[in-house]
Order: sequence, then C-alpha cells, then structure tokens
Amino acid sequence: MLNTNNPEIKFAIHAVRQASALVQQVQAEMVSPALTKDDRSPVTVADFAAQALIGNLLEKNFLSDALIGEEDSSVLQTPEERPTLERIADFVGRYTNGATPETVCQWIDRGSAESASRYWTLDPIDGTKGFLRGDQYAVAFALVEDGQVQVGVLGCPNLASLSLVVAARGQGAWVASLDEGKLLERLSVSERIDPAQARLLRSFESAHTNVSQIDVFADALGVAAEPVRMDSQAKYAVLAAGQGEIYLRLLSSSRLEYREKIWDQAAGSIVIEEAGGRVTDLDGKALDFTRGRTLADNRGICATNGYLHEAALKALKTIGA
Ligand code: AMP
Ligand code: MG
Repeated sequence: MLNTNNPEIKFAIHAVRQASALVQQVQAEMVSPALTKDDRSPVTVADFAAQALIGNLLEKNFLSDALIGEEDSSVLQTPEERPTLERIADFVGRYTNGATPETVCQWIDRGSAESASRYWTLDPIDGTKGFLRGDQYAVAFALVEDGQVQVGVLGCPNLASLSLVVAARGQGAWVASLDEGKLLERLSVSERIDPAQARLLRSFESAHTNVSQIDVFADALGVAAEPVRMDSQAKYAVLAAGQGEIYLRLLSSSRLEYREKIWDQAAGSIVIEEAGGRVTDLDGKALDFTRGRTLADNRGICATNGYLHEAALKALKTIGA
C-alpha cells in the first residue's frame, strides 16, 4: 500500500495537484486559437507560476530542503517582462497568500540548487510544446535522497485515465484523480514478452530523439507497429499502466552531447520501477541522480516493462545507438 500519511508523499501529491490546477487555469485563460505559432507566453506564465507555487509550498512545508527546478527568474527581471511577471503573480496569488512580483521571483529561485544529499526536483511543465498544442504535458515532481528517487508524482491533466500518478520506493505506483480523492488503483506494467509485439513510445518532437534510428531499432526487434508519439513524462505513466512496452530517448544526431535533465526523468523513472518495469540509459547503466542538474554520466534513456529490457539493450547495441 501507499502510505499517503507520510509527510513527503502527502506533500508531493498536494503540490502537484495545486500546480496542475494552476497550469490548467492558465491554459484555459491564455491559450486561444488566435495565438500565433511562436507566441510562447502561456507556457512561460504557466511554467514560472507553477514553479513559484511549488517553491512557496516547499518553503512552508520543508524549509531546509533543496529544490532543483527547471526555471530561474532572471529572464523575468527586465522592465519588458514586468507585465508577464505581474501576470504570473496574479495566477500564483489565486493559490497562496503573499504573491507579489518580488516574492514570486524568490519562490522561483528556490529551485536553483545545484545538488544536495536530499533534494526535490521539479519540471513545472514537462512537454511545453504539447501544452501549447493542447496535447500531453506533465507536472513532474520528485524527491531524491542519496541518489535514489524516493517519491515521484506526475500530474498529466490531458491523460484521461492517468491524470495523477504517484510512486514511492517499495510502495508501488498508483493512479488517482487530479481532484482531491482516494487513490484508485495500483499500476503494473504489461506482461508482453515477445519483442515483435512491443508497443514503442517516443517523443512527439523529432528533435528530442533520433527518429530514423528508432525505425532501425524497431526493425531489429521485428516490430511492425508505428511508435506512439507523445510529449512529456506522460509516456512513463502510459508505460507503467501497461499500455506500452518500450520507451526510448535516443540521442539526436545533431546533439550527441545532450545529457538528460534530472527533472525530466526522476519522477517518471520511479513510476516505471514501482510498476514493475526497468529504466536504464542506452548502455544499460543505472541513472545517476548525484551528478547535479543533469544525468551527466548517462546517455539517453531506455525504459521498458522489464521483460523486454535485455532484448531492447541488445538491439540498441546491434544498431550502434
Ligand atoms: P519529450 O516531450 O519526451 O520530448 O521531452 C521533453 C523534454 O525534452 C524537455 O523537457 C526538454 O528538457 C528535453 N529536451 C530538449 N531538447 C532535447 C534534446 N535535444 N534531446 C533530448 N531531450 C531534449
Ligand atoms: Mg521537461
């Protein structure tokens, strides 16, 4: 069972619920069909507001804990960005007291920690492109202690049956609703063991992976079905729920030096492991969450239902990924 009275688990669920409500509100009020293609203001407001809110909640609940968040407030502190900052403070103020442009910047900058033996990590909106398209995105929040992810929560407002997924080390992965309420059910990975039957998951954005290499990988396993394209760590929730078997983050050929950000993987990886799956890098190495803001010692990601992990790693080696 999941101990929802545990202070960290209870807090993480509350924080993700609040931040998810906030970003949905931003989306409802700011994303419109009239939005020009390169206007990123809704995601900017939602991203910073969600990090400010969680920074504030962390200050109230675990004052001395470090936070490693994706955003920092420096880009907001120019005269031109003042209206954006005021908009952010307005949204944050709907969820907590004392939100002003100044306090909001301080709350955002609580997330500038480099590392610590115990830290929280946050992607306030993972999948920003999906958020703008009205597709999938996630609020991803995790607690890491001595390099091990202990708690992970994903808020996926557009993922109907998996809108809140919670995992704690040794306590399983669970799905609940984004609104207050009880935990619904425990998640477990798919039991498919035939590589040719594997359902593959990949980034929606082609620049975040290597699409042609995924095709070669699929051929090597004998998979005929097209990979499912989806933004954000929502893919981890889908895999944990048994609706897919293999999720790869291959290195884009134009960015071979890219290393994963910890906030893009921490919550998702514990969700998979607690649902019975496996997560490593492309070389089969465990993810090392002690290297600061990135997974500096890992290359890409291979996440599976466990049964297909060795087959996937072998195929990656064969194709030179
Ligand atoms: P996804 O929606 O699964 O593609 O993941 C979104 C995340 O990909 C973002 O939060 C970025 O941090 C990350 N990202 C950005 N550029 C790259 C890249 N070149 N390779 C891999 N991931 C990237
Ligand atoms: Mg992200």
